[in-house]
Amino acid sequence: LSEGLKKQGEKGAGFSRVHVIGAGVMGGDIAAWCAYRGMSVTLQDLDMARIGPALERAEKLFRKRYRKKREVDAAMLRLVADPEGKGAARADVIIEAVVEKLEVKQEIFREVERRLKPGAILATNTSSIELERIAEALEDRSRLIGLHFFNPVAQLPLVEVIRSQFNADEAIARGASFALAIGKSPVVVKSAPGFLVNRVLMPYMLGAVEQVERGESKELLDAAALAFGMPMGPIELMDTVGLDVGRSVAMELGHEVPAESRFARLVAEGRLGRKSGEGFYRWD
Ligand code: NAD
Repeated sequence: LSEGLKKQGEKGAGFSRVHVIGAGVMGGDIAAWCAYRGMSVTLQDLDMARIGPALERAEKLFRKRYRKKREVDAAMLRLVADPEGKGAARADVIIEAVVEKLEVKQEIFREVERRLKPGAILATNTSSIELERIAEALEDRSRLIGLHFFNPVAQLPLVEVIRSQFNADEAIARGASFALAIGKSPVVVKSAPGFLVNRVLMPYMLGAVEQVERGESKELLDAAALAFGMPMGPIELMDTVGLDVGRSVAMELGHEVPAESRFARLVAEGRLGRKSGEGFYRWD
């Protein structure tokens, strides 16, 4: 991050309240991470059944990272279930992490824009959709930036701060400054399908999936990747990302996922990876 941007971002940073929309794999873990780093966080989801497990995962994170019980308790108090999304109006930062579908994201931003506090950061955690397309739904398109976290959030410091053609330096600087405030390492990237990391990562993961479809052993592929020095094999990574999310990102990047492929069939059967207990592997 350039010194100039850092300085702009520091000006009036003052972040204390974060509102996260979507309590799935990413939203839940982003909310937990922000609470762990001292923010007051509200967590919204259409489906109440997603919020409970997200709070349980948060508690696990706090127990692992804090030594004292009172610190765990204090962090739990900072993280509040907010099914109706009331916290959005008071938040300094709003992060959307719902399903990877353009129309769903647009609908959320259309609604939330009306309730924002002036100066609040409005961010999407989309993995692959160009920001300009999501921003079309907004009255003020310059407000939307990308804050793209990586899975697992607590372990990976990288956050891509995504700049659309509508953003001014200040919005990007504030996004980067927020990422620094929660102890992450921001890189500013241009809006393009897949941004920086997924453009490289997705063909690698899909290449591995294709080999499994052709009869190669997934265990062998994953073991080879580990021996090559990767922290996780590509098939395990696809299960960790979530097969539905992986497929949406792949399609958004222009890759084909034929309906008769094993990959597409697993998604259709709801075998989505770690989060559903089974994907390419079983996770129970
Ligand atoms: P997920 O399927 O685990 O969670 C999505 C959540 O959004 C669900 O809990 C669902 O109930 C909720 N939701 C759907 N519509 C909603 C609405 N209108 N209002 C409120 N909540 C709603 O998905 P995920 O893996 O957490 O992915 C979320 C976003 O993060 C996607 O844009 C994805 O591309 C991106 N992302 C995913 C990963 C990953 O590894 N899974 C990594 C980086 C970014």
